[in-house]
Amino acid sequence: MPKQEDKMEKVVNLCKRRGFIFPGSEIYGGLANTWDFGPLGTELKRNIKNEWWKRFVHQRKDMVGLDAAIIMNPKVWEASGHVAAFNDPLVECKKCHGRFRADHIIEEELGEKTEGKSLEEIDGIIKASEFKCPNCGAVELGEARQFNLLFKTFIGPTEGSKSTAYLRGETAQGIFVNYKNILDTMRPKMPFGIAQIGKAFRNEITPGNFIFRTLEFEQMEIEYFVKPNEWEDNFNIWLQAMKDWLESLGVSPDNYHVREHGAEELSHYSKKTVDIEYNYPFGGFKELWGLAYRTDFDLKNHMDKSGKDMRYFDQQAGEKYLPHVIEPTFGVERTVLTLLLEAYTEEEVKSAKGENEIRTVLKLDKKIAPFEVAVLPLSKKEDLSSVATKIFQDLIQDFRAEYDETQSIGKRYRRQDEIGTPFCVTVDFESLEDKAVTIRDRDTMKQERVSVEDLKNVLKKALN
Ligand code: ATP
Repeated sequence: MPKQEDKMEKVVNLCKRRGFIFPGSEIYGGLANTWDFGPLGTELKRNIKNEWWKRFVHQRKDMVGLDAAIIMNPKVWEASGHVAAFNDPLVECKKCHGRFRADHIIEEELGEKTEGKSLEEIDGIIKASEFKCPNCGAVELGEARQFNLLFKTFIGPTEGSKSTAYLRGETAQGIFVNYKNILDTMRPKMPFGIAQIGKAFRNEITPGNFIFRTLEFEQMEIEYFVKPNEWEDNFNIWLQAMKDWLESLGVSPDNYHVREHGAEELSHYSKKTVDIEYNYPFGGFKELWGLAYRTDFDLKNHMDKSGKDMRYFDQQAGEKYLPHVIEPTFGVERTVLTLLLEAYTEEEVKSAKGENEIRTVLKLDKKIAPFEVAVLPLSKKEDLSSVATKIFQDLIQDFRAEYDETQSIGKRYRRQDEIGTPFCVTVDFESLEDKAVTIRDRDTMKQERVSVEDLKNVLKKALN
């Protein structure tokens, strides 16, 4: 296995080389901290989102889905507290004009958490400690100031405070403003949840570490509405559900842990938050997903500011109340990154010539690998490729399959290993006679001969 610190670079290289993830706007020199998902990354991402939706929406009777607008009435973000409180402390270097998160500098230099400290206190630490600029090394960091993470834009032809709008900073608010519509149309019984997958935007001061922190990203969020006095049980149930899903995707319990936020670290809306933190090659355990108890903070504020009654009428109990909210939140790109890191494996194997060589394999869970199976005719000759094409056409009715007839078979196996395809089906000259093909297993490299007739059933079994 590569050393932890090399692993990130190797995964980034593999992503570029094999068409998973490219730097954003690359032909123009890129745009810092934006990334584009290539053909294979798109498949991987889509499979992750589909798995999430299947597990948390389709397979439960207490959940419904939603797809709300990205641009919302700016009053939403005032009521939610984001305009006033969705801030990070920023310092600018007077020499190189680089901008940095003041809290990150303090954390890195002094190993001290700053959550709960006022801006003045943070500024005091920066001034007293004479930190070097992380970019140019000058000891000339300016005054710390609050920086709001919401991306601002303008609606219509005039730019001004009246036309100001925001790109949503979290998908959650789309759920809260539609909560009443869903009560009225779907008549859900408490407890119930609303799920949404969609883009969120944050003007992060120091993004970075590949797709870990970017300016735009997708969230898979659930707002789960409960009776106020039942929040704690539901919180614990959701925490377990999140851990179960993570492990079902192949993440080892050794590589993640659950960390509860200290009181001073809590977001403006939360009474209790835990992060599921993954052990990343850059700097150790960091937030992968979050689980927050948001109380009735959002519904209450939206009720106050909009004047609309957000209470739920509990027929059984014969009472009206504002539900409390448990929020499991999952970043899509962080999930992609985590699963790539977890899957990246290097193994020493013997080549055909008997020499030692390194085999790189993405041991992605079969549910989310871009392709489940690749069809590889041994040669491009017409009689082989017509048989292989027919097999491929048949497989794509039921599986995520790829067809590849370029390069030597050894190189094609290596490529399929690197993109995480669990099975390769090789069509050779014997196939023309015996109507059978060879299935190669990504992880064991074992090969098995199966009849074309049985192929689908064998694959179905192996993929489940
Ligand atoms: P962090 O502390 O890392 O900034 P956060 O606590 O602000 O994250 P949340 O508001 O809880 O994050 O967002 C929910 C999820 O969205 C996170 O658990 C993470 O997976 C993802 N996420 C948040 N910010 C970003 C970002 N800038 N880029 C990519 N994913 C992000």
